[in-house]
Amino acid sequence: MTVTRGAGAGSVGRQLIREPIALLGIGKIARDQHIPAIAGSAAFHLAATVSRSGGVDGVENHQDVAHLLNVRPDIGSLSLCMPPVPRFDIATAALAAGKHVMLEKPPGATVSEVLKLERLARAKGVTLFATWHSRHAAGVAMARAHLRDAQIKHVQIDWKEDVRRWHPGQDWIWQAGGLGVFDPGINALSIMTAILPNPVHLIATTLAFPENRETPIAADLTFAGPAGMTVDAVFDWRQEGPQSWNITVDTNMGQLRLTDGGATLHIDGMAQPTDGLGEYPSLYHRFAELIEAGQSDVDTSPLQHVADAFMLGRRESVAAFYD
Ligand code: NAP
Repeated sequence: MTVTRGAGAGSVGRQLIREPIALLGIGKIARDQHIPAIAGSAAFHLAATVSRSGGVDGVENHQDVAHLLNVRPDIGSLSLCMPPVPRFDIATAALAAGKHVMLEKPPGATVSEVLKLERLARAKGVTLFATWHSRHAAGVAMARAHLRDAQIKHVQIDWKEDVRRWHPGQDWIWQAGGLGVFDPGINALSIMTAILPNPVHLIATTLAFPENRETPIAADLTFAGPAGMTVDAVFDWRQEGPQSWNITVDTNMGQLRLTDGGATLHIDGMAQPTDGLGEYPSLYHRFAELIEAGQSDVDTSPLQHVADAFMLGRRESVAAFYD
């Protein structure tokens, strides 16, 4: 995880007491998670939205980021919830105007654009927080602590869900840059890169593309780590019935198992107590901490693994997919 101090760190260090924040891109995740998290935040209050489709009842709305920046210079922090492809230009405008910026995952459509945003934030002396919400799931911090001194033999990741249930009518996930099954799969990779004590690299991948779509509906990945350690990951969007968001780690000290997307943790079959604020309240808490400290937090490693998968992946064509 990269935590860097911005060039203007001293100028942004200040007490944050319910500072105004703007939320941009009012879709599923903004409504399900960001709006409630901001409502419960001790650091921020929702002062404005940027939404082409209407925004949030009772909150001032702007048609685009340029208008927001022009008429609300008092809003110092922007949280960006639109899909990754349109996000870069909006983030660039916000950072160039000297705003602190929080990005939904994945932080961009390419690794290079995220690195450009990181450089711009540093040059402007503002905070850029590239969030990975799954890293804030209740079992993840304890899993990382448990694995710190372990010798890991094998990791099995099963991230299988029903795309019709979780992404109804979202055309962007099927378009180039939308990542397809890596849109949820990158959450597993964000946990993997957070809990493993040593880096791994991709050695084999198969990507299954529906014949009528630009992004994969399923992917099998194998990673290699130190001393013969391997990670096998299966991402699949065709899972009906029970959904699986599980990571199992076999080590010299026994087995660790994260389930429910990292919310629950078992070690050798024993449920572990978990705590935390909840994923999205924790993200806003962290954003406030970073602003206060004059730092950015930008870790591209999950996105790099996805880029590697598109470089190395053997492509299979599978049945057309219709919503
Ligand atoms: P979504 O429901 O499709 O909503 C995205 C919103 O972004 C749209 O409602 C629209 O808001 C805005 N938008 C769409 N295209 C745009 C464009 N070309 N330019 C500017 N704004 C645009 O998507 P979502 O599920 O909320 O996902 C958004 C991001 O959150 C993705 O990166 C996704 O990976 C991440 N995320 C999603 C979930 C989830 O469960 N859905 C979970 C965690 C993270 P307006 O109509 O207000 O302009």
